Amino acid sequence: MTSQEQPATLGRGDAGSTKAAAHFVFVPLNEQGHLIPAVDTALLLATHGALCTIVAPPSTAARVRHTVDAARHSGLPVRLVEFPLDYAAAGLPEGADHADRIEPRYMMSYYRAVALLRAPIERYLRARAPYPTCVVSDFFNPWTTELAAGLGVPRLSFFCMCAFSILCQHNLERFHAFAGVEDSNEPVVVPGLETRRVVVTRAQAPGFLRGIPIPEWEALADYIERARAEADGVIFNTFLELEPEYAAGYAAARGMKVWTVGPVSLYHQQAGAAATLASRGKGNNDTPAVDAAGCLRWLDGRDPGSVLYVSFGSIVQPEPKQVVELGLGLEASGHPFVWVVRNAGGYDEAVRAFLDELEARVAGRGLIVRGWAPQAVILSHAAAGGFVTHCGWNSMLEAIVAGLPVVTWPHFADQFLNEKMAVEVLGIGVSVGVKEPLIYQAVKKEIVVGRDVVEAAVRSVMGGGEEAERRRRRVRALAAKARAAVQEGGSSHANLLDLVKRFEPRDN
Ligand code: UDP
Repeated sequence: MTSQEQPATLGRGDAGSTKAAAHFVFVPLNEQGHLIPAVDTALLLATHGALCTIVAPPSTAARVRHTVDAARHSGLPVRLVEFPLDYAAAGLPEGADHADRIEPRYMMSYYRAVALLRAPIERYLRARAPYPTCVVSDFFNPWTTELAAGLGVPRLSFFCMCAFSILCQHNLERFHAFAGVEDSNEPVVVPGLETRRVVVTRAQAPGFLRGIPIPEWEALADYIERARAEADGVIFNTFLELEPEYAAGYAAARGMKVWTVGPVSLYHQQAGAAATLASRGKGNNDTPAVDAAGCLRWLDGRDPGSVLYVSFGSIVQPEPKQVVELGLGLEASGHPFVWVVRNAGGYDEAVRAFLDELEARVAGRGLIVRGWAPQAVILSHAAAGGFVTHCGWNSMLEAIVAGLPVVTWPHFADQFLNEKMAVEVLGIGVSVGVKEPLIYQAVKKEIVVGRDVVEAAVRSVMGGGEEAERRRRRVRALAAKARAAVQEGGSSHANLLDLVKRFEPRDN
């Protein structure tokens, strides 16, 4: 085992105290959308006096080492411990997890390899004081039920999604809302929501790992569901004021305690932590053509609120013709933009040439980032004015923190429900009108959203009409509430303190 095994030190929050602190063991997932907020949550708990140990395979740890090291150096009691995978035992090709993305055909063996870490992690934790007081595991790691049981400590599920989408999905399943509905595109009303009528199709909300024709995934989905039902509580990266009825609704539906602790990206906007904001989640393989300083210089030259940020997160990879159509729509909109094209080098010659030519045509008005972008830094720049997003929850929450209205373009997973949250519940978004998931399609559509639709949605969000102004006012009001939530006296701040207190060692 290679690890950063420095002794646990006292953190800022507990200096002078003689009490033993809560010790959370975080078991995150490798995907950036899960990993980044889990690590930010660990850092926030450490800020409030808990010790946090993050355990992960080396390929996962590499994505957050810089962030955790910086936090350690600032005095936070947090450690990142690597556990190598037993590739052969899991039938996983050596090093398959070090690629930018694990190939779908290796996914199941990767999850098997990670689950095999239970015994070495338990041995490590037993051998070193202080003993853990709570396991916080990504909901995708159901084997942590056995880890926590073996250690004899409680286990909390960590959700990087909002309570609204989780509650909708939970209610669709527990009330069998799609029973007897043949057509997966037929809308049904989400049952059990008291104050709002939300309509969704099975294609848009099939449940995690459901609706994909791979039997092993169904079995994993069942295992995950059992682990979620048996958790001792839930931590959400959201804030109470954003969705009080849905956070309470999920707590009631599951009969378990819910802690809303977000927006956790704000950890990096407190004194001493800002240096890590630009490198959040950036792996060793991610070498953007424009670094954070370059992006900031470019944004410095733009008018306040004038720039549209366009990104589909860490997983989604639009089809080649869709990339071209999106680019033409951005060009036609006339608005300045920063467009992140992940894995741009993986597209064929025609798309790469299109991007080069577009960049030349819109020189000075459009910046294309081919790789990992310092998203949170860009969004918090004064020049940012709107965000075209795939509706990953982290991106949505980061848009809210920055007070930016969104153009919503969901692709899969919880993204369709997050779109409903932005457009129907919060009134801060304009949809491009995607109706069906854009990955795992039986018949691939090359272009789903036309350039004219892109142009119209961008003009609507970035323009000066009355509704555009109302959207801006709403999201700015939410941004103020988000900041208040993590400050002293705020709801997320109080929940973090409660977690630290509640999971102190019993003999304190
Ligand atoms: N992100 C980033 N730079 C990129 C792409 C993504 O910093 O080029 C971050 C983004 O800020 C967010 C996370 O990666 O914190 C993506 O999570 P999200 O839930 O939005 O989408 P996912 O990648 O899980 O689909």
